[in-house]
Amino acid sequence: MKYAIIADIHGNLEALQAVLKDAKEQGVDKYVCLGDIVGYGADPKECLRIVREMQIPCVKGNHDDYCSSGLDPDGFNEGAKTAILWTRAQLNEEELLWLKSLKFVRIMANFTLVHATLDGPQRWGYILDKLEAAASFPYQQTPVCFFGHTHVPLAFVRDTAVRGGTYSRFKIESGKKYLLNVGSVGQSRDGVPKATYVIYDLRSGYIELRRLDYDMETAMKKIIAAGLPEHLASRLTLGH
Ligand code: ZN
Repeated sequence: MKYAIIADIHGNLEALQAVLKDAKEQGVDKYVCLGDIVGYGADPKECLRIVREMQIPCVKGNHDDYCSSGLDPDGFNEGAKTAILWTRAQLNEEELLWLKSLKFVRIMANFTLVHATLDGPQRWGYILDKLEAAASFPYQQTPVCFFGHTHVPLAFVRDTAVRGGTYSRFKIESGKKYLLNVGSVGQSRDGVPKATYVIYDLRSGYIELRRLDYDMETAMKKIIAAGLPEHLASRLTLGH
């Protein structure tokens, strides 16, 4: 069984299409999504349609939450705020209700899905270092947990202590716990401007980070044509 773990699509249809094509070529048979299907990109509706049509199990991200809650997106910076209000206006009532109904945490085969952290899934905290990972581990009931939100692919491992760092491919070992950020499909933020996701091969135990080129030019043109803030287009080329 090969799972594709995708996160933070952020309405970037071109990046999502590149990921789904690659996953298919890699023999992936199941998909899961860690939230933030919408927000920032120009194709929230189409990305949402694909995730729903493929019946991809999904947890709720902060953008999904704010778009569907009707709350004033106060905690966000100006660009994100504009994008949330724009996105909200693109979706119909039924789509917003679907986003609203997403759970914050889900347990699949031997792994957990969460958007931000397990110690406060609704607080939208960030896990970027060992201390933040150490706060989440006590709430993790499965050997592996995948998370998103930071858009920075990092792996944390807990055996006698918590260690962390970047990764590309490694094997899950029994007796240890893993907390893994899979990077972002639609808006990379670690300086590598590519569509990023993870393949988890349940049979061999291997985790592989995949980074793909995609039709970024089209995604950028659509953001500008939609009247969204221009830096949401230019940041795609920078990867942060
Ligand atoms: Zn995000």
